[in-house]
Amino acid sequence: MERQIRYQREANLEWARQFTKQPGGERLLSCIQCGTCSGACPLSIYMDLTPRQVIALVREGFREDALRSKTIWLCASCYACAVECPQKISITDIMYRLKREAIRSNLYPKRFPIPVLAREFCEMVRRRGRNSEFWVVFRMALRSNPFVLFSMARTGWDLWRTGRLSLRKERIRRINDLQFIPAASKEVD
Ligand code: SF4
Ligand code: SF4
Repeated sequence: MERQIRYQREANLEWARQFTKQPGGERLLSCIQCGTCSGACPLSIYMDLTPRQVIALVREGFREDALRSKTIWLCASCYACAVECPQKISITDIMYRLKREAIRSNLYPKRFPIPVLAREFCEMVRRRGRNSEFWVVFRMALRSNPFVLFSMARTGWDLWRTGRLSLRKERIRRINDLQFIPAASKEVD
């Protein structure tokens, strides 16, 4: 992420306040910026912002910077940060919350495959009740970087030839019952 100076007037303090009221965000304001979470995180060397910086951005109300960061998508949900945090902040749950909001608000980094994959996966499960691996990966590639399909073609062909990759789009019966669940969960989100 490109580092830029941010001014306090750009902060959305109301968003930060709301965030601390949601499950997982209750202890956010107690962060002492010690950096233990960043040190414990096995993936922080690949992240554009460390977990500590993400927590600081959320706490101060810099919504877009937090939602657009690649860090929230690289988080592997290992909970090492949350276990080590001296203030018992649920950093992993905060990452989850940011991911959901980034997808809802269309603020995830464009052409970055992980959020595109998450979105395609959820959309397929919502519409069909099942994940058809080939189609999810195909749509993810089309929407992030179509050229990657060339490098995947050989592996895809081998998997299909040996019966380990199906091109069939599966669908469960009574899909309406399943679609009721995400609709209900949105109401409590
Ligand atoms: S370990 Fe906890 S207190 Fe320390 S910077 Fe990370 S979130 Fe804040
Ligand atoms: S849960 Fe995510 S942010 Fe925390 S240590 Fe694991 S990968 Fe890093």
